[in-house]
Amino acid sequence: MALKVYNTLSKKKEELVPAEEQQVRMYVCGPTTYNFIHLGNARALVVFDTIRRYLEYKGYRVTYVQNFTDIDDKIIKRAHEEGMDPLELAERYIKEYFRDADALRVKRADIHPRATEHIDDMIQMVKVLVEKGFAYQVGGDVYFSVRKFKDYGKLSGRTPEEMLSGARVEVDERKQDPLDFVLWKAAKAGEPYWDSPWGPGRPGWHLECSVMSLKYLGDGFDIHGGGSDLIFPHHENEIAQAEAYTGSAPFARYWIHNGFVTVDQEKMSKSLGNFFIVRDLLQEWAPEILRYFLLSTHYRSPLDFSPESLKTARKGYNRLANTLELLDDTIGDREDSAVGRLSKEAEEFRDRIAACVAEFEEAMDDDFNTALAFAALYNMGREINSYINDRAFVPTPAAIHVLVLARRYYQTLMDILGLLPGEKRELWPEYKEMLQEIINAVREQVQDLLPGELPDNSSELLDLLISLRNEARGRKDYQLADQLRDALKKIGIILEDTPRGTRWRLV
Ligand SMILES: [Zn+2]
Repeated sequence: MALKVYNTLSKKKEELVPAEEQQVRMYVCGPTTYNFIHLGNARALVVFDTIRRYLEYKGYRVTYVQNFTDIDDKIIKRAHEEGMDPLELAERYIKEYFRDADALRVKRADIHPRATEHIDDMIQMVKVLVEKGFAYQVGGDVYFSVRKFKDYGKLSGRTPEEMLSGARVEVDERKQDPLDFVLWKAAKAGEPYWDSPWGPGRPGWHLECSVMSLKYLGDGFDIHGGGSDLIFPHHENEIAQAEAYTGSAPFARYWIHNGFVTVDQEKMSKSLGNFFIVRDLLQEWAPEILRYFLLSTHYRSPLDFSPESLKTARKGYNRLANTLELLDDTIGDREDSAVGRLSKEAEEFRDRIAACVAEFEEAMDDDFNTALAFAALYNMGREINSYINDRAFVPTPAAIHVLVLARRYYQTLMDILGLLPGEKRELWPEYKEMLQEIINAVREQVQDLLPGELPDNSSELLDLLISLRNEARGRKDYQLADQLRDALKKIGIILEDTPRGTRWRLV
């Protein structure tokens, strides 16, 4: 089926037809590295990572480029506050960025270009823009002359007059027109600088993305993405620079923008004190839950954050993960042996699974509707659960055959959303204190069995509790064993004794 995407440039849903068959070239604006990433950054990361994963699932080769803005006013300001070199500060936060992005299972881009590594290319673009009459020099600064580029405003749909009244435009008497924006900034004392034909200075922020996307993806590449706050002026300026430079349009063919994250219906901002840093959230919540939450709403809609929304996400994720556990328990080590004719039940089950896969694809083909894709996954989970839990279920080779098939589909779809659980199941950090409390409540009875110091990690704490319970059962101390099991159940951890040992699942 055709994949449709909403293109901010045309303001409608269009069929995605890449310039080159089976190949998608994609550029996404990355963070300015002066701090840890916040929830708004994370939404863009996870949304575009999921788009990329789905395109790969559809059989496209995807070339994915995401930049780091590693020189900028904010970086310089923060570095001065911390008494650090700005480039070192940027380097530090690039490392921190990867820690968070990896935790959220955002795949690394094919290329992560940095602004400071492309200064020569940027100078080259500014030179051409000056030569072509699109830019002018004032002292050591160079500005882009917005009125010279007749298509200015085509992405945001604003006229120059609206831009002037809507945005805060700095008053600067050096500009010929208040709308003009800076391409090259003269260096101020104490700032990093590079030599240029206009004297020592550094590039304006917008320039790097035009330069690096053209360099790595070529003119007329397929998808340009970012948060909707970047549409104006950042992306509008990118288009102006790039298209004035190459003399051709469009510089990027599909523009995709994700919506804002709000907190209790208000815009998230530092000044309102409702600002969430991903690293802080990951102290308390598992990355899968955060990722699930970020994808639970269609990417173009606003996404409202509250602790309640993460609890809902946890429930949803547990449901999905439990189905996978049930499949693993049922299939076990059994090989998918070749079977002859399928029974009627097995055949019908297989068809229902195929219908859920189709439903998932239909949702994602419609402008990456992850909210409906989750609904399709739930339907699939329900089919699997009721097939296995049916009283008449017998694990015949035919039944195992269709379950192996169902698991393969289920895992593939979970993986598109970046939510496939890892090999070893880890219990999430938010359980740590609750588990410590349970152990402390029975401390006197199990004193001899406890290590000198309790483990610091929830998975290890749970392992310890399970071994304490097994120990108690061995001693026929069923009261303690049941007490531990019930205490775990109270916090949503269910223990199940199977022939292969005690397993846990979350509800
Ligand atoms: Zn950009």
